[in-house]
Amino acid sequence: MMRREIFGDEHEHFRAELRRFIEAEIEPRVAGWNSAGTTDHETWKRCGEQGYLGASAPEKYGGGGADFLFEAVIIEEIARVRAHALMLSLHSDICMPYLTHYGNEEQKERHLTAAISGESILAIAMTEPGTGSDLANVQTRAIRDGDEYVLNGAKTFISNGQICNLVIVVAKTDPSADPPHRGISLLLVEGDREGFERGRNLDKIGLKGQDTSELFFNDCRVPVANLLGKEGQGFKMLMNQLQQERLTIAVGSMASCRRSLDDTLAYVKERTAFGQPIGTFQNTQFKLAELATKVEIGQAFVDKLLAAHVRGDEIVKEVSMAKYFTTDLQKEVAAECLQLHGGYGFMEEYPIARDYRDAAVQSIYAGSNEIMKVIIARRLGLE
Ligand SMILES: Cc1cc2nc3c(=O)[nH]c(=O)nc-3n(C[C@H](O)[C@H](O)[C@H](O)COP(=O)(O)OP(=O)(O)OC[C@H]3O[C@@H](n4cnc5c(N)ncnc54)[C@H](O)[C@@H]3O)c2cc1C
Repeated sequence: MMRREIFGDEHEHFRAELRRFIEAEIEPRVAGWNSAGTTDHETWKRCGEQGYLGASAPEKYGGGGADFLFEAVIIEEIARVRAHALMLSLHSDICMPYLTHYGNEEQKERHLTAAISGESILAIAMTEPGTGSDLANVQTRAIRDGDEYVLNGAKTFISNGQICNLVIVVAKTDPSADPPHRGISLLLVEGDREGFERGRNLDKIGLKGQDTSELFFNDCRVPVANLLGKEGQGFKMLMNQLQQERLTIAVGSMASCRRSLDDTLAYVKERTAFGQPIGTFQNTQFKLAELATKVEIGQAFVDKLLAAHVRGDEIVKEVSMAKYFTTDLQKEVAAECLQLHGGYGFMEEYPIARDYRDAAVQSIYAGSNEIMKVIIARRLGLE
C-alpha cells in the first residue's frame, strides 16, 4: 500500500503504541467476546485509562484534544484485529460528539467525563421495530409533565444496548409537529432509570461479540435537565453528526478490506493445488490484483475525506459516496477472498469466514447504502 500522506509522525507513533496495547489486551479477548455476545466493562475502563476513549474530545473533560485522524487510527487498529465487538468508535466518534456539541456544562461534567474515563459506556437509540431509515417517523414519545418527560416506546438493534450506562434516546416531544421531524428531541437516559428495560441481546449472523439489543421505555420519567440541546432540534442535531458517523464506517471498511486481503495474499502463497501454490494461477493473481487496485483507490478517497473532515469542510455528499462505495467493496473483498480460500474459507477456524459475515451489515446501518444514494442524488440536483 502506498504511503498515506495524511498521517504525520505523531499519528504513527500513536498507532505503534496503540497496536502494542491492542495486541496485549484486546486481541486475546476477541474470541471470548464473540462467544459471550458482549464485551466487558473492564476493557472499556482500560481503554479509558490509556486515552483511547475520546482521543479527540476536549481536554477539559479528560479527552485527548487531538485531531480526528487519531480516532481514525483507533478505528483502523481495532478493525485490523477484527475486534469489531469493542465499539470504541460508536462511543467516541458517534455518541460522544452529541455531548460535546450539544451538552450543557452540567451534562458535560457528568456524562462526558465519565464516558472519556470509561466509567460510562454510551449508546444511541434511533431505530425502532417499525422504523429505521425513515427516522422522522419514530414513535417513541417523551411527553412533558412538570419538570420531567414521561418516555414511552421501544427501540431495537441498539449497539451497546446491554452494556451501556447512558443512552441518547431519539423521541418525539411534540408528536403532532408538522413537519414531523420538528417534533423530535434527544434525551439522555441513564441505564438504571426506572421504567427503562433492556430486552434481548439479539442473535445476529455476524458481529457476534457486539451486543445489539432491544430497549423498552415504560412510563420512564426523565428530568427535563436530561434534554440534550433544545426541544424540537433533535433531527437537526442528528443530521449534523451523520457526516462523522458515516466517515467512521468508511474508515473501518477500508481497514477490514486490507486485513482480508493481506490474509488472503499469505494464504494463496502457501496453499498448493496441482503441485503449485494457488497464487500462481492467473485467476488468483487477477482477482487479487483487481481487489488491491480497488482498495488503493478507495483508501485514497477516504484519506482525502479524512483530511477534509479535519479541516471542517462540509462533505456530506462525498461521505455518503464513501460509505456506500467502501462498504460494498468490503463485501466484495470478503466474498472473493473467501472463494480463494476454497473450503477452508467456509470454516469458522479461518477468519475470512467471519469477515464475510461481519461485512454484511456495513451497508445496512449508519444509513443504508440505498439512503446514501438518495442523499447523493439529491445533492446532484435530482429530487
Ligand atoms: C448490527 C446492527 C447495529 C445497529 N446499531 C444501531 C444503533 O446503535 N442505533 C440505532 O439507532 N440503530 C442501529 N441499527 C439500526 C440500523 O441503523 C437500521 O437497521 C438501518 O437504519 C435500516 O433501518 P431498518 O432496519 O428499519 O430498515 P428499513 O428502513 O425498513 O429498510 C429496509 C430496506 O429498504 C430500503 N429503503 C428504505 N427506505 C428507502 C428509500 N427511501 N429508498 C430506497 N430504499 C429504501 C433500505 O435501504 C433497506 O434496504 C443497527 C442495526 C444493526 C443490524
